[in-house]
Amino acid sequence: MALELDRPDLARSDNFIDGIWQPSGAGAHYDVCDPATGEAIATVADSTAADAQAATVAAHRAFDSWRQQPAAARAKLLKRWHALILEHTEDLARLISREQGKPLAEARGEVAYGASYVDWFAAEAVRSYGDIIPAPVGSKRMLVTKEPVGVVAAITPWNFPLAMIARKIAPALAAGCTVVAKPAEDTPLTALALVALAEEAGLPAGVLNIVTSSREKVADVVGAWLEDARVRKITFTGSTAVGKLLARDSAPTLKRLSLELGGNAPFIVFEDADLDAAVEGLMAAKFRNGGQTCVSPNRVYVQESVYEAFADKLVARVQSLRVGPGDRDDSQIGPMINARAVDKIERHVQDALARGAMLLTGGQRLNGGVTTGPNYYAPTVLGDASHDMALAQDETFGPVVPLFRFRDEEEVVDAANDTPYGLAAYFFSRDVARIWRLAERLQTGLVGINEGALAAESAPFGGIKESGYGREGSRYGLDDYMATKYLCQGNLA
Ligand code: NAP
Repeated sequence: MALELDRPDLARSDNFIDGIWQPSGAGAHYDVCDPATGEAIATVADSTAADAQAATVAAHRAFDSWRQQPAAARAKLLKRWHALILEHTEDLARLISREQGKPLAEARGEVAYGASYVDWFAAEAVRSYGDIIPAPVGSKRMLVTKEPVGVVAAITPWNFPLAMIARKIAPALAAGCTVVAKPAEDTPLTALALVALAEEAGLPAGVLNIVTSSREKVADVVGAWLEDARVRKITFTGSTAVGKLLARDSAPTLKRLSLELGGNAPFIVFEDADLDAAVEGLMAAKFRNGGQTCVSPNRVYVQESVYEAFADKLVARVQSLRVGPGDRDDSQIGPMINARAVDKIERHVQDALARGAMLLTGGQRLNGGVTTGPNYYAPTVLGDASHDMALAQDETFGPVVPLFRFRDEEEVVDAANDTPYGLAAYFFSRDVARIWRLAERLQTGLVGINEGALAAESAPFGGIKESGYGREGSRYGLDDYMATKYLCQGNLA
């Protein structure tokens, strides 16, 4: 089925370099597929290193005049872009849902969420203040200013095709940087539409450039940016494995890095928790985007005395979830992104069952009725999970909840922190002393306290340990795209 959009011109297939939509110089392209059916829905450029270099040349050339624009002028353009994104919510949501699979209602939510970062950073652009430092001796004048770091390369994943790229482009442009961007192979269409709207908002040529590529070419495209000294920063959201490659390969030119990487989030339910609230918090955190989020609870620890009661309530809620294609009004969980994703989920569930987990619900692929297609997996709850299982070590990235029993706080804090990752953690408790103890002891960048929905444009999003560094959103977000400069004027006569 073809893409049906109110504005068909938002379905782009070319790269956007130096203000011109153009095919890859090599003329190659690849198919974008609907994860619900596996069928091709569009064709986009399969770019090469030469295309990436052309984007760098354009961004580098545009940098000086863009950085010299008054912050208020950059803010005005961002606000215009924000208004266009909201105006075309329905088309953007259709693109997200078709190429990524999430239900339309969730896709509309993603448009609003991604747009909120554009609005936020339009407002932050005009607030990038410096400092005046009292001189320690004499009558020197000591000042601190902030300057844009330069050309930024943004590399993004498929799970939030709009929000992840908006969260990077908006602060970069607000700071006065220019951008070269590469969306994920599976979900380039939303990013291209977003760039088309930025062009319509009046962004000058070269300020924002985008190239698309298949997985086979990605190392060439990104490699061209990694080795180029004109690219001063890489901002990346994706897996920890690729994040480490980027850190290694950007070392020769010592680029700035923001890395939003994988997680292995613990979700802890204490016996003093409001169990119904904990179940709802888990449903919100776990099943958004079918569990394909970096902050998705991957390990759910429940205190022994409430384990059975919690498991019963949870299983009833999970069994009520409706799985189906994103364009059905009643779908709550769509297909997984691709065959590799479903294979991994299946591997994790089989491994857990082989090591003694109990299947409480789900546990299989779905293929029939409204879920006819290659990539559906049933919402699943596993009981009696243990730490030797693959799903305890590695993010499953799917609709699978493993339940672990625990005895006391000491044991569960140790277990929760026993991972190289440190993105998000959640816990439910009504004990105020415990709340503050836990909030400080959990080794993550984000902590949900009696809350399953954490992200907001006004909050700093990011991890510690092998979940990366840098923060997106909030008043801290602009700093990642700015260099601090110190000016010292000698003693005045
Ligand atoms: P991924 O495989 O690391 O891909 C992310 C991006 O990197 C894609 O654009 C991908 O292109 C590109 N890429 C892949 N291999 C590369 C290479 N060798 N050199 C340069 N670029 C390369 O991650 P994913 O599977 O798309 O996304 C899922 C991961 O992202 C999960 O681990 C999730 O936790 C993490 N994530 C983190 C956050 C956060 O904020 N911390 C948010 C969302 C997702 P291709 O698509 O062409 O492979």
